[in-house]
Parts: sequence; C-alpha cells; structure tokens
Amino acid sequence: MSPLILDIKGNSLDDGPGIRSVIFLKGCPLSCAWCHNPESKNSGVEISFDPELCVGCGTCMDTCTEKALSRETPFFINREKCTLCFDCVRACPSTALEQVGKEMDIDTIVQSVTRDKPFFDASGGGVTFSGGEPTLFTEFLGRAAQAFKEKGVQVLVETCGLFDGRRFDTLVYPHVDLIYFDIKLMDSQAHKKYCGRSNTTILDNFRTLFRRYREGGVKVLPRTPLIPGITDTRDNISAIIDFYKQEKVGETRLLPYHPLWRDKIKKLGISRPAEKDMETDQWMAKETLAACEKEFARAGILTQGTA
Ligand code: SF4
Ligand code: SF4
Repeated sequence: MSPLILDIKGNSLDDGPGIRSVIFLKGCPLSCAWCHNPESKNSGVEISFDPELCVGCGTCMDTCTEKALSRETPFFINREKCTLCFDCVRACPSTALEQVGKEMDIDTIVQSVTRDKPFFDASGGGVTFSGGEPTLFTEFLGRAAQAFKEKGVQVLVETCGLFDGRRFDTLVYPHVDLIYFDIKLMDSQAHKKYCGRSNTTILDNFRTLFRRYREGGVKVLPRTPLIPGITDTRDNISAIIDFYKQEKVGETRLLPYHPLWRDKIKKLGISRPAEKDMETDQWMAKETLAACEKEFARAGILTQGTA
C-alpha cells in the first residue's frame, strides 16, 4: 500500500539531529484525542479551508458543480456533497482551499529531498519519516528508507510504536539510523480511551527495539507528549519512569502540549473530538514542563540532548 504524502518540510530543526527534511505520511492506526497533526490521521485524501486566507471572491462557489460550498455551511464545505474533485482548489486564487494528501513516488521524493544533502552532511542531519504513522506503510517506508541510505542520507523514523514487529524488522529496520518512539500512557485502559488502542503491542515493540539498541543496534529514543491532565499526571510520569528503569532507558524527550491542532481541525471540518477531555486552549506552562523534567532527572533520566 502506498501512502499519500501530507507534506515534505525542509530545513527542519525539530525532528531529529541537524538540519532535516521531514516527510509526513497520511494515516495512523491510533486516534489520540490531542493529535497535533489531525490532518494526518485519515489515510485518504481530504480538502481543507482556511478562512484566514479567503479573500471572499466567490470563484470557488461558481466553480463547484456539486454546490458543496456555502457561507451558510459550518466550516464552509458540505463534505457530504463534496466529491473531492478539487476544481475549487485549482480555482482559488489565495490557497484558502487546499488538497490534503498527494501521491508521490519514491524516486520523486528521494530526488527532491537529496538536493539538501550538503546541508544534512554539514549539520549531521538527514531525512525523518513522520506522520501520521509511517510504519503503517511498512513496505513503502522500507523501500524509501533504503533508497535514502543508498544516497548516503541518514534516516530517522518517528513512530507511535503500533506495528507488526516482524515486518518492521525485515523491511524497515536494516535501513534506519535512528528511531524516535512515542511512549504516551502506561495504563492500557487509559491508552485505549485516549488513543483508541491498547498499548500492549507498543510496549512489546519498544522492549524489543530498545534491548536490541542496548546490544549495539539502532538507537531508540523514547518520547512522551505531555498532555495536560492525561499524560502529564504524576501517576503516568511515575509509571513511565518505572518502565524506563526496568528497560535501562537513560534518555528521553518530553514534548510539551500546544493547542494548534484546534485550528487545524476546523480547516478539515472536524468537530472538536473528545472535548470533555481536552478543554485547554493554552500552551503548556514552562513550569509544568520543568516539573516533569525534574521527575525524570531525579531518576537519572536525561530529557535533553542532541539526538
Ligand atoms: S472539491 Fe469539487 S466537489 Fe468538493 S467543494 Fe471543491 S469543487 Fe466542489
Ligand atoms: S476561491 Fe478561495 S479566496 Fe475565493 S472565496 Fe473561494 S476560498 Fe475564498
């Protein structure tokens, strides 16, 4: 199965060491209530509307033969009528309407990204596969990672950890240099409630990959998104620390909550998911992040570094 590409972001300093190009694949097996990239959850193509960019010219409404666009419709697009022909996107002069998800073959991706190889080499950077969940497309991911390795580009995979371990080992693992592995909630029921699936396979995959790393394999760096009242609770942080002690994890990263996903879901015409559990519109306070970092530091686990 080939994924749709959501975006390829160049010159990124956020998704791994050095300067990187980040390839966002569309589709995820989880459904986290706080997902920072809601446009990447659904593996199919979508249409988005950004009212901030709209100049009100009306060209799109004249173009749409399905009469799917109206100022009276919440989020502007009637998605039951829309056939995703994207005529309106092509007609819009301001990019207020956009196609979300595009087909791209591996050769085209590799060719466009490796133009930045001099910057990767000078900075210790490379390419990062993100999502969505890139391992949802194991075969594509493996072939793309291999193609980058053959060009001498360092490959990092960001994963939620929910994948078929055997297929990952065979198709992807030989072609990656670094794995960023999300550990969100230790309680399986809570994981199911907030992320849609239990964490059993995720924790098993983590144990396997991390033990292999300790024996000289590919580096695995666990990361935890800190979500107010959900993953940043004292109980969850303590449980993660206990798990890391058992697995001899000495380094992690904490990703502070931000509310930017709220604007993104409006552009996609999605009502707020799990609203009762996600009431904060605020960026995470520095003090909250510092308090969580302190807990890990007390246990001898680093939360900052270059990897
Ligand atoms: S994608 Fe096509 S059907 Fe959908 S709103 Fe635009 S023009 Fe209409
Ligand atoms: S064509 Fe674009 S700018 Fe014009 S009304 Fe439609 S969305 Fe707005």
